[in-house]
Amino acid sequence: MKPDRLDRFFKIIVVGDPGVGKTSLITKYVDGDYSESHMPTIGIDFKTKKLRIKDEKVKVQFWDTAGQERFLNITQSYYKGAQGVIVVYDCTNLESFRNVKKWMKEIDQHAPLNTYKAIVASKTDSEEKIISCSEGCKLAEDYSCQYFEASAKLGETECFGQIAHEVFRNMENIAHL
Ligand code: GDP
Ligand code: MG
Repeated sequence: MKPDRLDRFFKIIVVGDPGVGKTSLITKYVDGDYSESHMPTIGIDFKTKKLRIKDEKVKVQFWDTAGQERFLNITQSYYKGAQGVIVVYDCTNLESFRNVKKWMKEIDQHAPLNTYKAIVASKTDSEEKIISCSEGCKLAEDYSCQYFEASAKLGETECFGQIAHEVFRNMENIAHL
């Protein structure tokens, strides 16, 4: 048997308006827990998921904004060293959808060049859904990034794993530039 190589490790930042479900998605994906009553200001720094990608052991840190998004206080240091950024909007909340533009601007200013970006529409289980899949796809096209859908409530968070694979692929492409 091949000796275990050192784990690869990367950092994915999750941003988006307050209340869109960032903490719920990370917690559900990594720990399998879901609760309706997250205290908005009590965030986590990050949660680590161990994945196997292309025969490599990879540790992925999903960084949460710990409530700072309320104060627009996400600084450059936060994005430092990130290989991926996920912008989450809530498909029942038009303002959060419109604010994706603001988050993309932030990312362009602060995140390292070539950072992989994805847009995730959250709460797709909700009957109050007002932003369609095609609107989400169109928005992602505008930013040349991929679009995914998720529901922490229903445990539909596989897109976080898919995004980790895409980040890995993006890193390999950059390495070959
Ligand atoms: P954050 O501020 O972006 O971290 O959002 P939270 O994860 O704290 O979620 C805010 C609230 O949205 C939660 O208290 C839940 O009531 C609700 N929520 C989160 N995820 C879902 C989901 O997948 N479906 C539905 N219907 N509600 C959700
Ligand atoms: Mg939160």
